[in-house]
Amino acid sequence: MKQDYYEILGVSRDATQEEIKAAYRREALKHHPDRNKGDKEAERRFKEAAEAYEVLSNPEKRARYDRYGHEGLSRSGAAPGFSTVEDIFRHFGDIFGGGSIFDDLFGMGGGRRSGGGRGASLRCRVRISFEEMARGVEKTIGLRREERCGTCGGTGARPGSAPRTCPYCRGRGEIQQTHGFFAVRTVCPRCQGRGSVIEDPCPECRGAGRVRRARDLTVRIPAGIEDGTQIRISGEGDAGEQGGAPGDLYCQVLVEAHPFFTREGNDLYCEVPISFAQAALGARVEVPGISSTETLEIPRGTQSGSLFRIRGKGLPDVHGRGTGDLVVRVVVETPRKLTRRQEELLRELAKTEDENVSPRRRSFFEKIKERFGQEDERKERE
Ligand SMILES: [Zn+2]
Ligand SMILES: [Zn+2]
Repeated sequence: MKQDYYEILGVSRDATQEEIKAAYRREALKHHPDRNKGDKEAERRFKEAAEAYEVLSNPEKRARYDRYGHEGLSRSGAAPGFSTVEDIFRHFGDIFGGGSIFDDLFGMGGGRRSGGGRGASLRCRVRISFEEMARGVEKTIGLRREERCGTCGGTGARPGSAPRTCPYCRGRGEIQQTHGFFAVRTVCPRCQGRGSVIEDPCPECRGAGRVRRARDLTVRIPAGIEDGTQIRISGEGDAGEQGGAPGDLYCQVLVEAHPFFTREGNDLYCEVPISFAQAALGARVEVPGISSTETLEIPRGTQSGSLFRIRGKGLPDVHGRGTGDLVVRVVVETPRKLTRRQEELLRELAKTEDENVSPRRRSFFEKIKERFGQEDERKERE
């Protein structure tokens, strides 16, 4: 019969996450193998506490445990259980990033070493306009991140003191254990492989070697970037623990749509209206490009919907490989209003084409009225 997880940690069933963490800290300290050398009972209690904490610190597992008890956890394959003390260190090292809970718990964070816990990578988003995309832009973004502690310079040790060689592994960073015929080397659980421990932690960062700060960062966004692209800014994530390497910052760039232009690859597309006379006779029209106004020669007899390509007036390639084209789609617009003179000329034109056009001075609405009138009459006859 397994003992209740809440009882193991000595907390009530409605304990908060902080209470659970504090209770685990207390239990783990009491039964820590370093303090109870060779005590099998202490080791069992240490493992039990870790198992209870593993479940109760995870809201999903905790909810399942609350409803179904131990059964609910084993059936779904979520049953915890640690075979060795090293397992526990490894496991919670993962959860808390570089074993920081044990640094917290026992004040045994290590000293500076090249492989000190690497900082987490961070993500952010930045929104830019289409024009900013076309010419490239610098944006300032606000972040909260872990930064190297200025008081201890990232070592985690109180200024004037220094990290000491780890007594557990004698500075080797790993320990060797014999299992039957095999000798297994594992990362030292006390110093997490750093080879050194801090006995007098820095008061500013409490031995972590880093502190949380708000920071404004300028991000250079290259011209021609595609909407949704993620830029990696190397080394601008969280600082590492105790002088470890920093993580990276991933910044996703969102490009706003433009009312006039769309893009396809590095080509810019736009639509330009021209008159029937321009389409028929040919014309020179001004086309507003993204950075300059271009002149486009429209040949005689241009059909509505024709595409014209202006070389090299599109978007710069984001990798610096040339520039796209500006592709103009011309649309022939039918005039909505005509002067008397224009109407005369159009009627002349229609005559030459021997086409049937509506008689003069009957507006569209008059025609509609006429048609509905006819229908009304027909209905009356029926
Ligand atoms: Zn510090
Ligand atoms: Zn060690």
